[in-house]
Amino acid sequence: MNEPILTIDNLFKTFPVKAGPGRTMHARAVDGVSLTVAQGEVVGLVGESGCGKSTLGRLALGLLPPTSGKVFFQGRDIGALAKEDLRMLRREMQIIFQDPFASLNPRMRVRDIVTEPLVIHKLAESRELDERGAAILAKVGLGADTLMRYPHEFSGGQRQRIGIARALASGPSFIVADEPVSALDVSVQAQIINLLADLQKDLGLSLLFIAHDLNVVRHFSDRVAVMYLGRIVEIAPAEEIYTNPSHPYTEALLADIPVPDPTAKKKHILLKGDIPSPTQVPTGCRFHTRCIHRFEPCDTVVPRTTDLGNGHFVDCHLRG
Ligand code: SF4
Repeated sequence: MNEPILTIDNLFKTFPVKAGPGRTMHARAVDGVSLTVAQGEVVGLVGESGCGKSTLGRLALGLLPPTSGKVFFQGRDIGALAKEDLRMLRREMQIIFQDPFASLNPRMRVRDIVTEPLVIHKLAESRELDERGAAILAKVGLGADTLMRYPHEFSGGQRQRIGIARALASGPSFIVADEPVSALDVSVQAQIINLLADLQKDLGLSLLFIAHDLNVVRHFSDRVAVMYLGRIVEIAPAEEIYTNPSHPYTEALLADIPVPDPTAKKKHILLKGDIPSPTQVPTGCRFHTRCIHRFEPCDTVVPRTTDLGNGHFVDCHLRG
């Protein structure tokens, strides 16, 4: 594996939550996560809504300050950088948002949206912007005729292409793609995933690809991390996760993937109940309230991380 471009070291993020008159609780959104993304690597980060994966993505980019822990980008501690140094580094680190309807300013023309990073980072003269904007749009399969139009004139898939173009404009080496296809029609999702896969290869990008569905990240992730209630409970090379899932939560997520062949027998493992509130993380194994394999020590003893070999790590008493 290449050198890490991003290293997340024991990161915690809590948010205060009003719990009644004069009472505040703390939501443990990210609860002790360590993770690396190597140069040119795609890491899929998967889990249900509310598991903390989007918060982790924002922490990785320095868009949110952590409660504790560190993020290193290209070996530099981003929490220790001066404002100007962090601004310079932001050219290298970008985000693609989930909702292509909400993330594009409706009053800006496409030209101004996609060239805004060039202006902010002083990467182009104003006379070059049309040409540079057209070149960036071409990378995502949109013609120069789109430059002077507004976001509302486009479909969801086209808008997400514009969002991707904006993320690429400053020439980043690392991108957080935060559920980039979950707001799109199923028919369009594959096109956007294929586009991202092609761009990742062509430009040698490193990617943290966040999704709630293991199926979405399957085809172009090098490794997959499964997150539950603020922690990564299993991480492995992609093929290993799909062929040898070792955490009951990963098994349940995999069992939920629709099977294309209607005659094929589907293994259905039900997840019991909903994900607990991050203000009340269960004791012991945080998954024990929903786990169908729960046994004696699970509700009192926190499982340690077990190394299963070949880069496969899991937090579960069944494997420890
Ligand atoms: Fe289930 Fe226990 Fe493993 Fe947690 S430690 S996932 S409760 S078997």
